[in-house]
Amino acid sequence: MKICRFDDFRLGLVEGDQVLDVTSILDLLPVYRYPLPQFDPFIANLDYLLPAIKTAALTARRLPLADVVLLSPVANPGKLVAAPVNYTKHLEEVLANDQLHHQVVINDIYKAGLFLKATSSLVGVGAGVTLNHPERRNDHEIELAVVIGRTAKDVKRENALSYVAGYAIGLDMTIRGPEERSLRKSPDSYSVLGPWLVTADEIPDPTGLEFVIKVNGEVRQHANTRDLIMGVEQLIEFASSFYTLHPGDVIFTGTPEGVAPVLAGDVMDAQIQGIGQMRVSVL
Ligand code: MN
Repeated sequence: MKICRFDDFRLGLVEGDQVLDVTSILDLLPVYRYPLPQFDPFIANLDYLLPAIKTAALTARRLPLADVVLLSPVANPGKLVAAPVNYTKHLEEVLANDQLHHQVVINDIYKAGLFLKATSSLVGVGAGVTLNHPERRNDHEIELAVVIGRTAKDVKRENALSYVAGYAIGLDMTIRGPEERSLRKSPDSYSVLGPWLVTADEIPDPTGLEFVIKVNGEVRQHANTRDLIMGVEQLIEFASSFYTLHPGDVIFTGTPEGVAPVLAGDVMDAQIQGIGQMRVSVL
């Protein structure tokens, strides 16, 4: 299933070029009181809600997908985990270009580990990316994004995929410079998630997904998730060996070669096999 959030916090099921408004099923969610949980309530209850979503879809109002404003499919992630330098050819391009490495020692993911992006940076497709320091170089990074479905701690890679709720396209927008990644990649709107959540049953194996991002129609990055240095299962094992992953936590799996600047007015078209495509404006 392709599940989206749209307009004024509505919930939708995507079918072809239509959205079925199934917002009513949110009434089935447990009511949480202060202190609020550190997970996303909708994702945490997704398995329980899926039958109700299917039933509600039978009589749901249908809207053209083109007429809705898509929000991030995850509303309240506890953390946005991100993998630096997780494609070999991207490591090579970073090492070769001063504008990318800024005299900072760049290691592959085995040495660099993971970093966190601020949850306040998360937006959906409809918001677009608002450049934060437009006088500096701002790059696109297309990445497969993994949404965690249930509490994961010290998970082994062999059963790591059973902890995945679904997948989306992630844009890890980045200001280039010498500062820590978590700062340069965390301005408001610098984490785009969309266009919707594809439930894990539709992508039984996240290896071998072709993906591409074009800017103003020109291909910038075109790669395949089979070239990840640390694949999805290994990323979940690695991350959960340090901290608990909660339902709704998002893992940005890393970007391949071809990172390049964007400017206000640019249009990014991102596509991942099995998920879909999304058009994101740079503002
Ligand atoms: Mn990245």
